[in-house]
Amino acid sequence: MKNIYDLSRDDLIIYFENKNLKKYKAVQVYEWLYDKRVNSFEEMTNLKKELIEDLNKDFYFGKITLEKVQTDKDANKYLFKLEDDSLIEAVLMKHNYGNSLCISSQVGCNMGCAFCASGKLKKVRSLTCGEMVKQILAIEEKLNKKINSIVVMGIGEPFDNYDNVINFFKVINDPKGLAIGARHITVSTSGLVPKIKEFASFPMQVNLAISLHFADDESRSKYMPINRAYGIKELIDSIKYYISKTNRRVTIEYILLDCINDSIGDAKKLIKLLKGLNVYVNLIPYNETGSEFKPSKEKNKDAFYQTIKESGIVVTVRRRFGENIDAACGQLRAKEVKK
Ligand code: SAH
Ligand code: SF4
Repeated sequence: MKNIYDLSRDDLIIYFENKNLKKYKAVQVYEWLYDKRVNSFEEMTNLKKELIEDLNKDFYFGKITLEKVQTDKDANKYLFKLEDDSLIEAVLMKHNYGNSLCISSQVGCNMGCAFCASGKLKKVRSLTCGEMVKQILAIEEKLNKKINSIVVMGIGEPFDNYDNVINFFKVINDPKGLAIGARHITVSTSGLVPKIKEFASFPMQVNLAISLHFADDESRSKYMPINRAYGIKELIDSIKYYISKTNRRVTIEYILLDCINDSIGDAKKLIKLLKGLNVYVNLIPYNETGSEFKPSKEKNKDAFYQTIKESGIVVTVRRRFGENIDAACGQLRAKEVKK
């Protein structure tokens, strides 16, 4: 039995074709799932009884349960329990132009970045496509509002769950699915070079963000173990390749950590690395997680920002959402798992 939310429309078309049924049935089922949002095949009243029986034999409606909600003025945080009792979380960010949702892609994360709450808990497993889709459906239902954009920046390394994440993009981008425009979808990776290269051939115009955070191999390898497998030069080369194939601007994420990577010298190293590339730098204020890492002091953050800006590289400082609710993805789950 498969979770019905794991299927892209093309997967469903294949299913119907194998049964010698018309492929428009796939569209009908999709509309029931994502437009009318029914929770059983019986409610799909334009399907024949025999077909409903078949569908019930082959598929089930995967569920996720909302365990906890924390709200702040500009963000809500949701803790979900999956069917195997695993916990994950999603964060809703309320912008003046709409709602964006940060979803999780794995239960835990194996990348082990020293500053990250998610990386403290090893990966238990990857999420299925349906479990990612359901995070959106559950929150839209709860809020009775449409989510306008999706960022895959919650718990987990999305490119360590590549195939499911790609299928997830197909479902949420499908005009008969959740109809979220590709330009409103962003995926962030800690730098799995082979997958960045593979992603260059993915035809949807999804935004790519790279968690660079350090501009030299010594410190990047110290705090981000992935760098020992794929160093900065390889990573930058893969970004160049991605840009040359897609012609799209890549976001470079850089967390500002007090006295670790926030000096003017660090800014200059970053400029040297990125000069001439079609990228934009997003400076991220660090959310404390009870570790030794502290956010940069205001004056250092400003100086870092100015240095990058004066080099001609486009740079922004990310707004901080949900300061009061452990909004850095992974923090809430980490607390719950400890309990
Ligand atoms: N695994 C992916 C996506 C999830 S993490 C990745 O690393 O890109 C999403 C972003 O949040 C990454 O840039 C990550 O480095 C950053 N992050 C992790 N812990 C953080 C914290 N405590 N405060 C602010 N950003 C954090
Ligand atoms: Fe995993 Fe991303 Fe956290 Fe690193 S920053 S441990 S890759 S979730």
